[in-house]
Amino acid sequence: MFKYRYIRPLYYFALCIISVLAYFKVISFFYILFPIVLYFTLMAVCSAKIEWGFFVEAFCGKATNEKVLALTFDDGPDKETTPILLDYLKQEQIKACFFCIGDKIESSEKILKRINEDGHIIGNHTFSHANLIDFYPEKKLDLELNKTNKIIKSVIGKEPNFFRPPYGVTTPAFARAITNTKMKVIGWNVRSFDTINKESKEVAERVLKKSIAGSVILFHDTTPHIVDILRMVIPELRNRGFKFVSVEELANLKAYKN
Ligand SMILES: [Zn+2]
Repeated sequence: MFKYRYIRPLYYFALCIISVLAYFKVISFFYILFPIVLYFTLMAVCSAKIEWGFFVEAFCGKATNEKVLALTFDDGPDKETTPILLDYLKQEQIKACFFCIGDKIESSEKILKRINEDGHIIGNHTFSHANLIDFYPEKKLDLELNKTNKIIKSVIGKEPNFFRPPYGVTTPAFARAITNTKMKVIGWNVRSFDTINKESKEVAERVLKKSIAGSVILFHDTTPHIVDILRMVIPELRNRGFKFVSVEELANLKAYKN
């Protein structure tokens, strides 16, 4: 019941009831502020909580007793760090998922090809990853998603089915654009904060503390110290009995269309 499609009509219903009561002077018009403030607060909070699936369903981890985890890397391809990260993942025989920015792919096609050839999954992370993307209307978001999928398909020959919204923020316009493109949203339940925290050890400790069976872990392949972090995280998680699987396997969803 706690979904946008149910809350929205409820909000308009509350506005109507209060307006009618105020018109007949049963209550003051002042009361109309309550549902308005509540509604917009709720919208703001829910847009930042991708795991609630308020606007659109998102896979953010699997409820399981099996000790499996999936690694994801956002914001690439990065000319400097992505190749180093790929070398490390190859050495560790780990297949991850890379949510790439369309605008960056245009100058890093070789890296994108290598991500695919190394057996990793490539997902869509919008074309621009603009700071104000959460305020974009549906049409502009349609373009962001379609343009990126088209670029990825032109390089690797496959069209992504997985989408990750920048900053994990979802909005009604994003939900409509995702429905239009028929993509699946992949979130996370372990956020490393690797772009904010420059201390590799602290990032690694946070990830190790938060990781549980079925987790989807969010890293960025733009983080200069990403391999330093992984060198602390991967062996320890393996010591704890965890196995790394792809998001495709964990979510039981197809990573590409058709
Ligand atoms: Zn991002």
